Amino acid sequence: MPEPRNRSSSVRKKKVRVPSGESRERYERRKGGKKASCAVCGAKLQGVQRSGPKSARRPERKFGGALCPKCQASVVKEAGRVKDGFKSIEDVAIIYRRYVEGILK
Ligand SMILES: [Zn+2]
Repeated sequence: MPEPRNRSSSVRKKKVRVPSGESRERYERRKGGKKASCAVCGAKLQGVQRSGPKSARRPERKFGGALCPKCQASVVKEAGRVKDGFKSIEDVAIIYRRYVEGILK
């Protein structure tokens, strides 16, 4: 079992070949943590960084820095359908529902 400090997701295992010829696992800390990813589909997010003014750290559209453009567009479409009465909130896919509710509020 790895030590508690090495069980975090910011630590990854790396296989190294030691001079005796055998391979061992070493633990490496990820620099700056993991890349930002879409909360719905898991795609890597573009335009997200950790330094600079807030407006430069993520896209400034709705759900920028949380959802990828495709999922964001789907959420906006679903919200429009619910708002105009073509769909009820229960018919929206559960993974989109909290974001759709966020628009409708
Ligand atoms: Zn997505």
